[in-house]
This record gives sequence, structure tokens and C-alpha cells, in this order.
Amino acid sequence: MTKYIFVTGGVTSSLGKGIISASLAKLLQARGFKVTIQKFDPYINVDPGTLNPYEHGECYVTEDGAETDLDLGHYERFLNIYTTQANNVTTGRIYQSVINKEREGAYLGKTVQVIPHITDEIKRRMQLLSTSGYDIIITEIGGTVGDIESLPFIEAVRQLQWELPDGDCLVVHLTLVPYLKAAKELKTKPTQHSVKMMSENGVHPDIIVCRTEQPLSKELKNKIALFCNVKPDSVIEAADAKSIYEVPLLMQQEQLDVIVLKKLNITWFPEPDMSVWKKFLDKLMHPTSKVTIGLIGKYMELQDAYKSILEAFIHSGAVNECKVEIQSIHSEFITSDTVADQLNGLDGLLVAPGFGHRGIDGKILAVQYARENGLPFFGICLGMQMSVIEFSRNVLGLKSAHSTEMNPETPDPVIDLMEAQKTITSKGGTMRLGAYPCKIEPGTLAHQIYGSEMISERHRHRWEFNNKYLASMEAAGLKASGVNPETNLVEIVEIPSHPFFIGVQYHPELKSTVENPHPIFVHFIKAALAYRHSRSEGSRALAPEMA
Ligand code: GLN
Repeated sequence: MTKYIFVTGGVTSSLGKGIISASLAKLLQARGFKVTIQKFDPYINVDPGTLNPYEHGECYVTEDGAETDLDLGHYERFLNIYTTQANNVTTGRIYQSVINKEREGAYLGKTVQVIPHITDEIKRRMQLLSTSGYDIIITEIGGTVGDIESLPFIEAVRQLQWELPDGDCLVVHLTLVPYLKAAKELKTKPTQHSVKMMSENGVHPDIIVCRTEQPLSKELKNKIALFCNVKPDSVIEAADAKSIYEVPLLMQQEQLDVIVLKKLNITWFPEPDMSVWKKFLDKLMHPTSKVTIGLIGKYMELQDAYKSILEAFIHSGAVNECKVEIQSIHSEFITSDTVADQLNGLDGLLVAPGFGHRGIDGKILAVQYARENGLPFFGICLGMQMSVIEFSRNVLGLKSAHSTEMNPETPDPVIDLMEAQKTITSKGGTMRLGAYPCKIEPGTLAHQIYGSEMISERHRHRWEFNNKYLASMEAAGLKASGVNPETNLVEIVEIPSHPFFIGVQYHPELKSTVENPHPIFVHFIKAALAYRHSRSEGSRALAPEMA
């Protein structure tokens, strides 16, 4: 029998429902339960694949090729499991299924309505993963209680609470308890209001998790319990943490998992085994070295746009006991006059994924600087494509080489639209998406990194390396070290004469987790450390002469 936990949010957005859900799931998983998390988003896009990062942060891609909300990345990173298309559902997808069924005649003679047709479809999807053998399914409801668009989801939770046997379902409400500096006081009123609003919709929280900058006193917890009609031990403090990876341990201290299990009528459960997690956290909090990595992209003002890349650096830094400082560099502001000054002092360079023309020239200049100066380089998707263009222009001498994404008329389309993409006109869910195998050539950097000849990685792109140029590139020193064994698409390029230069057409950042940091990131940090070391040795060697 599967048990259900619903996580709602009140007062403001960005309280970290995803992190609280993932932390609770981690604790339950560490106690031996089979847990998954899903997210229900109230917007009308069928999936977030058509939203740009300014709207919604990074689009996270699952093994099965679903374009999903970035919270699914947190779920995978915390739980070390794969999620699927079924783990992210939007209002758009719900309506799409109901409308398709209506056209097929499934409701012949009936008026199709929000209640019961839309709510039935929401409930069906909320329970869909129960067939996969999970003990507990956590469902995060996107948005904030009180939003018009999240009403059908709250209503579906209300109905499920009625329909499921007692103790099979509970609601955790995440809220904000703001600290008013002038009054020197934490305020509970917004929490009271949001619980009241939810109650008006027929759903009463079983547990209230309070985001707060200051510790919640016992009196304050009692006050929230009294006014919001929950037991005092069901008011949980969620203090601000230095790292999101501390939150599972903070929730464990607050006994969130124990209270949840008791309310779900689960009376026997082992102690959680968080040893691997604690070891990771210890390394993360006590680094013995440091590197500075330049992240070249075009959404620099948004911390969510490159979420998985930043998290992968945290995982790989911790393994190396190394603090990874990220210096975000906006590619639009890199020029040939400024590039050396902007990149001097970095220990490694990552050119980020992306779409469209903006900021392309800066990315190409950055690759050139890394290639010519032996600076460790790591290009992801568009970043890899830029490294191929840079090499074509500056080593092969194909001065106008480009991707047909940016210049459809280029005489040297070294990056070209995939054959299968040429006839596609609609935008949603039509890229090359999800996991594909890749065969790695022995003796290459990629092989050294993966320690394996067959790998599988996730994709999200339309353009690819143009194999017409493969022979001349390889002859000039850019090696295709990984290819798709079925289609021959080039997935990995590297420059063997460079200390560390690798570009990948896929997105390795999507598969980096706390327990399984991605090997390319891990080796990239090692290379950055070596580079930093060699630079400081070099400057020490120079010092006497200069003196
Ligand atoms: N715009 C490029 C393509 O579609 C790269 C995509 C990406 O970086 N994810 O191929």
C-alpha cells in the first residue's frame, strides 16, 4: 500500500518546497522506505521546455526525455534515483489529456467540468506512480496557496483525503515566519492566514514547516499550533542553512520524518543511515583547497538558470575536498580586447549550454583563450559546439565556420541541424531529448574519466557536430573520443595535446548526485587544482629572477 504526502506552500514563493520535500524523502529513504517525489505545477504550458530561464530557471531533463521543472533535479540529486515524465505534471498536461479524451468521445453526453473531470485526472496522476512499488509518494504542489490556478490541485488533495483510508495521506504546509527587525519579533500572522485560506478550501495541514531566519521558541511553536489547529510537535522549524545539503539533517533534528511516519500509521521503522550524506557534508564544509572556475553563459543574473551545473560543482568539489568558487562571466561582455584580463586568474573554464545568437562571440573568444593557454576547459552542449567552431576557425582556418543555428548561410556548417530535426516545426518536446548511449575510444581523456567504453548520458539539443568535417578536425588535433554507436553522432570532443580540454554534446550535470558526483566534473576540478598548483609553482620559480 502506497502512502501519500502532499507538500503545499504558503505566504510567498521561493520558500524551498522542493528542498524540504527532497530532505524529507531523503530521511525516509535512509530509513529503508522506497520513496519518490513528484511535482504538480499550476501553469498552462504542457511542460517547462518552452519557457526560457528568465521565466522558470533551468529546464531539467529526465532519462526518459521529459523536459521538467528544476525541482526534479533536486529530487534526483538528493535521492540518487531517476525520475520520469510521470514525476512532473502541469495544468496544461492535465487539460490536454481531458480535452483529448473529450474529443475521443470518452465523456459523450456529459458536460466536462473542473470538478469532477479535471480533479479526477489530477488524482489519477497523483496516484500513477503507486504501481511502481513505492512505499511513499511525496507530491509537491507548485505555487502558493491562494493562487487561483492552484485551486484544482488543492481540491484534488481534499478529495483524496476523503477517499484514501485514514492514515494513508497527509499534508505538510511550508510557510514563512518573517522576522521584523524594527519590532525584533518573529511574526506568525502570515502563517495563520495561509493555513486559514487552505482550510477554507477544505484542506487542513497535518504538519506546518516554518521557514525562519531566527530560532522558533517553544512559545512561538505553541502559538502557531494553537492558532493553526495542529499539534505543537507538528510545528517544525526550518532555519536558513548555509547549504541546501544541510537541510535533511536539520529536518532530522526536528524529527520531521518521525512525526510524518507516525501520522501515516507506520509504527516500526529503523534508524536512518545518513553516513554517506554526513561524510559528503563534512568534506563540503571543510575544504582543504580552492579553485576558481569561470562559468561563461548569458543568464548570469539568475542563480537558477544553471542550477544543475552549480550543484554538480558542489558535489565534485566536495569529493576533491576543494572549495569551488564560481565566477560568472557574461559572454556578451567578452571582447578580444578584454578576454585575457577577464579570464586571467581562473583555474578552469566552463562554457555553458544555451540557445540562439546572443553572446556567441564571447563564448568563442573564451574557448580560444582556454585552448591557447592550457587552461582546463569543459564545454557543455552549446559550449561544446562553440569549441568545435573555435577550432575550425582558428586551427583549420575556416574563418566563417559556424553553426547553422546562428548563421544558416555559413559556407562551413561545422555544427548543423540533425537530419531528423529538419522537418520538425513544432517546438514543445521535439528536441533530441533524454538518455542516449555513447561509445568511448580507449586511451582518450574521456575513457580515463569514465573508466568505461559504454556510457549513457542525457541530451537536449537540435544541432550536432557535422561529420563531414570529422577527418580534417582529427588530423588537425581535435579528437572525437565518444560517438553514438547507432547514429555515429559525435558526443565528445577533446584536444589530446592540451592538459584538459573536453566538450560534450550531452548534459552531464543532470546526472551528478551527492552520492554519485559526475566523473567529468570530478576530473575537471582535479585538472583545475593541478593548473592552479602549476601556476603558483611557476610564479614562485619566477620570483627570485623578478626580485
Ligand atoms: N542550441 C544548441 C542546440 O540546440 C545547444 C543546446 C544546448 O546547449 N542545450 O543544439
